[in-house]
Amino acid sequence: MDKIALITGASSGIGRACAEILAKNGINVIIAARRLERLVELEKELTDKYKVEVLPLKLDVTNKEEVFDFLGNLPKDWQDVEILINNAGLSKGLDRLQDGKVENWEIMIDTNIKGLLYVTKAILPRMVEKNSGTIVNIASIAGHETYPGGNVYCATKAAVLHLSKALRMDVLGTNIRVISIDPGMVETEFSIVRFDGDEERAKKVYENITPLTAEDVAEAVWFAVSRPKHVTIEDLVIMPTQQASALLTVKNYKNL
Ligand code: NAP
Repeated sequence: MDKIALITGASSGIGRACAEILAKNGINVIIAARRLERLVELEKELTDKYKVEVLPLKLDVTNKEEVFDFLGNLPKDWQDVEILINNAGLSKGLDRLQDGKVENWEIMIDTNIKGLLYVTKAILPRMVEKNSGTIVNIASIAGHETYPGGNVYCATKAAVLHLSKALRMDVLGTNIRVISIDPGMVETEFSIVRFDGDEERAKKVYENITPLTAEDVAEAVWFAVSRPKHVTIEDLVIMPTQQASALLTVKNYKNL
């Protein structure tokens, strides 16, 4: 089979847009997430639109056994993953640490750090063996700076930046590229998940500002992935023009 990419968190937002841009460029995609019904819909959409193969995979990245079992036993034609997009991730809550819910911290750490590590560990050895591969970690500006109530989410994204840097060192001497893409505000289901399904509160985040779209981020991912093999875009920060830092947007600028 031609080139294969694995995208985690492909049922929504940035992951879904990445699956689409890769498929559009002729890459066969394994689309993984917990909501299988959405993946099956996406499979149909991508195979109808583009002449690629699509493998939907119901996968919870926090489930260590599931990750190693499913990714270690991919169908024979799907085993040579050339591009891994570690995108599955979330924030839960926006509470100050003193008021924070321990369960929320655990979900974020288990998904954003441990899940990314499990998936990478399941895929990387074969890349090393083949001496070829590209890993894209979706971090965030939250990994570069923090904000009130961002505590654990920001810490997990800082961890992703450090893991990307560390992995670049660990695979030095191979042809494996490790790329970090760090978006500012993107309108996806991210805020709905953060606010436990409160769509009204989530909508307010994106009022009176033009945020990035998932497609904007996917284009940046594709730019980085499609560079010649000797070029690694190490760390690409992508922001809405109306946002200058995690906290500073056109909405609050005038009040300063
Ligand atoms: P989204 O629309 O909520 O998508 C998140 C995706 O992650 C979903 O497909 C979800 O699928 C998947 N996911 C969550 N937990 C999972 C688990 N345990 N196992 C497997 N998949 C899981 O949000 P998004 O904005 O596209 O987020 C994608 C990535 O971008 C995240 O890492 C996020 O931190 C990062 N990011 C987002 C923004 C932003 O402003 N939106 C900014 C910077 C960085 P299921 O629920 O179906 O499993």
